[in-house]
Amino acid sequence: MSLDDINMLDRSAIIRLLAVAPAEELYRRADAVRHDTLGDDVHLRGLIEFSNICRNRCLYCGINRANKRVKRYRMSEEELLSTAQRAAGLGFQTIVLQSGEDMHFDQARMCRIIEQIKRLDVALTLSIGERDYDDYRAFREAGADRYLLRIETTDVDLYHRLNPGMSWQRRHECLLMIKELGYELGSGIMVGLPQQTVESIADDLLYLKGIGIDMAGIGPFIPHPETPLAHEQGGTLEQALRAMAVMRLLMPDINIPATTAMESLHPQGRIKALQAGANVVMPNVTEGEYRRLYELYPGKICVNDTPAHCRSCIGLKILSIGRTIGQGRGGHISRIEK
Ligand code: SAH
Repeated sequence: MSLDDINMLDRSAIIRLLAVAPAEELYRRADAVRHDTLGDDVHLRGLIEFSNICRNRCLYCGINRANKRVKRYRMSEEELLSTAQRAAGLGFQTIVLQSGEDMHFDQARMCRIIEQIKRLDVALTLSIGERDYDDYRAFREAGADRYLLRIETTDVDLYHRLNPGMSWQRRHECLLMIKELGYELGSGIMVGLPQQTVESIADDLLYLKGIGIDMAGIGPFIPHPETPLAHEQGGTLEQALRAMAVMRLLMPDINIPATTAMESLHPQGRIKALQAGANVVMPNVTEGEYRRLYELYPGKICVNDTPAHCRSCIGLKILSIGRTIGQGRGGHISRIEK
């Protein structure tokens, strides 16, 4: 099909773009939409992986609680705060706190952490999984600005097979609560899950548009050897880039990160993503051994690097493709700036 009429992207057109449209043409089109809507700025987020302890058993995830081989860690509040301080010192204006679902970080503790990090004058994103409404409300009142919670897939049966003990409906409701509380809402999916079809990926993208996300994280599923999905095939970079590019066509003004998992499949994965619709990168600012221990999937990049190294490395890559580093906090343009 031709890519001429992106405003008419219905489900069958999306499926064709995901499955058979010439990839390079699709990427160019998404890149042009990104350029025309958002310009050349790439916004950086400093990602802190503060605990790999998790109560869930997601079959794809290397830190799921059934994996007894991973050494577990959780940062102390002091460590977490000093990591955030150093990230702010490197110039990051958004800090992302990510972890397994570690209930040691209860409402009071999380609120204390949020309040302290907000004193650094940064935007704060949480990515700590499913909580109840009262927690989400308290975190928001404590100052959290954004929340990332991937729906992972909208194929409800597939979701339930992959996430034993969890409920797709519940996750969906969490997204609605987060939105209602006025967070900037990030969600997303994995591409290349076992038995996932292009039709279901098309439905995922339409779902993300339908709930009105501000940010979409789309990455390839990469099988982890210590999980039940060890011998599955996993997603390819092309599958993930296609889904990301179509997301850009569907939602021209949202923030879309070039995901770390893409770079784990290809040394230029994030650059390719930035040239196929992405406008955000989330360099890891976790320090020391923790980087290696937060192993969602194998082959994770930069596990032996320092935050300062990652910041300068990605900065140079961004400049080398003629893009600029975003100077503000880089929130969703429809909500904050302009
Ligand atoms: N506990 C938080 C953070 C999860 S980790 C939450 O539930 O939101 C962040 C994301 O990593 C997940 O949402 C999932 O999409 C992705 N992920 C997990 N395992 C993966 C794997 N094997 N390959 C690729 N991505 C993976």
